[in-house]
Amino acid sequence: LGSSRSSVPEMAKNSPTIFDRILDGSIKADIVYEDPECLAFRDVDPQAPKHLLVIPRRRITMLEDAQNTDQELLGHLMLVVKKVAEQEDLTDGYRVVINNGPDGGQSVYHLHIHLLGGRQLNWPPG
Ligand code: ADP
Repeated sequence: LGSSRSSVPEMAKNSPTIFDRILDGSIKADIVYEDPECLAFRDVDPQAPKHLLVIPRRRITMLEDAQNTDQELLGHLMLVVKKVAEQEDLTDGYRVVINNGPDGGQSVYHLHIHLLGGRQLNWPPG
């Protein structure tokens, strides 16, 4: 694992993101779950009736920068997604998305997992 071929400018990877400000409490978010490793909150621009983001407190910029040592954290995030889906009563199903890099449509360079539900979602995505 690990990558050095990314097309993402180093600046984007090194600058603080809006999620740092949510994590340090300097901007408000509608937090629905938190634990020592991660935070889940409502997306400010929801693409479905339920749209939540799960983020690690420790910043990983993007999935392609995840390391073998992040294995436990990544597994934990996935199980938190499941827990939040239960908490949000998404009993008819839901979708879990990670956007990676420019072609993936990633705009915030702090790894986050989208949890979407509450309506029939289309496939393929745009
Ligand atoms: P995109 O912005 O294209 O969806 P990302 O996968 O990087 O790409 O997603 C970032 C997500 O963070 C977006 O869904 C956006 O609405 C959300 N977001 C940005 N700022 C905030 C904020 N202050 N509070 C909650 N969600 C936010």
